[in-house]
Amino acid sequence: MSQPEKLYEGKAKILYATDNPEILLTVYKDDATAFNAQKRGQIKGKGQINCQITAALFTWLGLMDIPTHYIDTPEPNQMRVKAVTIIPIEVVVRNIAAGSLCRQTGLPEGKVLPSALVEYYYKSDELGDPLLTRDRIFLMNIITSQRLEEIENMARKINKNLQSFFDKCDITLVDFKLEFGLDAQQNLLLADEISPDTCRLWDKNDVDPQSRVMDKDRFRKDLGQVEAAYQQVQQRVLAQLKNS
Ligand code: UDP
Repeated sequence: MSQPEKLYEGKAKILYATDNPEILLTVYKDDATAFNAQKRGQIKGKGQINCQITAALFTWLGLMDIPTHYIDTPEPNQMRVKAVTIIPIEVVVRNIAAGSLCRQTGLPEGKVLPSALVEYYYKSDELGDPLLTRDRIFLMNIITSQRLEEIENMARKINKNLQSFFDKCDITLVDFKLEFGLDAQQNLLLADEISPDTCRLWDKNDVDPQSRVMDKDRFRKDLGQVEAAYQQVQQRVLAQLKNS
């Protein structure tokens, strides 16, 4: 293959073109950022770990009839994906109150929500990823109400499947962020990644509010043992995929 063309470099991944215009190559990096990139660092081995976790979860969701952009992992930190146009909305699903939900509503961290909350944020570093309302989404002409309904239904289905998967890993799925894309035929596909960078994951057998944390909050809040927590998630997820 000729020298691959770099299409985009994000905070955690680099996207390359391949010889096939329908396929892109994502390289996962060890770089970590938080608070809209105001905090920066490296988590050793994170690129490989997040790539492997995402591959396992997308494989599992594919088996559950959820279409994803995932194709395969030619190298431990590289993922081949179907080319899609990313919809500029971050879809956050919450089962338990944490993070910005607590900061913005005063709900106590750890409160189990009566039903899953689905929220939409505008993917814009410049604007600081603001929370969107349905009306703002339509006002901004981002997507139609039909497409939004399709996204919400898919996000809820993904949540149900991921909750039961992580439960079998002895991990509580607190909240997570999803991104969706459209392929050339305008089919909706789950895209981007699902990893400890994009989920809050708590060890089910640990009630201590600090030591139970198995996700990027360890980096955000300087809790230490970041690599070990990510490795533990990887081990449990890969073992569970094998068993299922
Ligand atoms: N999240 C993400 N990328 C973002 C913002 C949030 O992956 O740009 C994830 C985050 O890791 C958490 C969930 O979405 O699992 C909800 O994040 P929240 O709105 O609570 O924001 P935070 O507290 O991280 O600022």
